[in-house]
Amino acid sequence: MSKTLFEKIAAREIPAEIVYEDDKVLAFRDINPQAPTHILIVPKMPIPRIAEAEAGDNELLGHLLLKAAEVAENEDLKSDGYRLVINNGRNGGESVPHLHVHILGGRALKWPPG
Ligand code: 5GP
Repeated sequence: MSKTLFEKIAAREIPAEIVYEDDKVLAFRDINPQAPTHILIVPKMPIPRIAEAEAGDNELLGHLLLKAAEVAENEDLKSDGYRLVINNGRNGGESVPHLHVHILGGRALKWPPG
């Protein structure tokens, strides 16, 4: 099967500014930032979207969220706050079919999203 865009970033086939990596997850700056800090954190295993995750992904998903919080803290977002977003499917605004959590911070974010 062909690699997803984010697998290509993990394989260094497409350049990105990587801010965190371990054996399970990769975090890199979004190419089209929607906030002063906009990072995507992805599992290296290409789960297409959260709706396709399974019980066996439990540990990986926990790791992904904990690392998202760690990356946010390392980006100095903890005191002022930040938002984690997962877009799922067409109405959710998903454009890359490889599960990713957006880490958005550095400005006050509106609620609800448009
Ligand atoms: P989605 O809309 O699927 O929730 O988010 C996909 C995100 O991937 C978008 O915020 C988009 O800007 C980002 N993105 C798309 N292509 C690239 C790329 O080649 N490099 C990086 N770093 N981000 C990308």
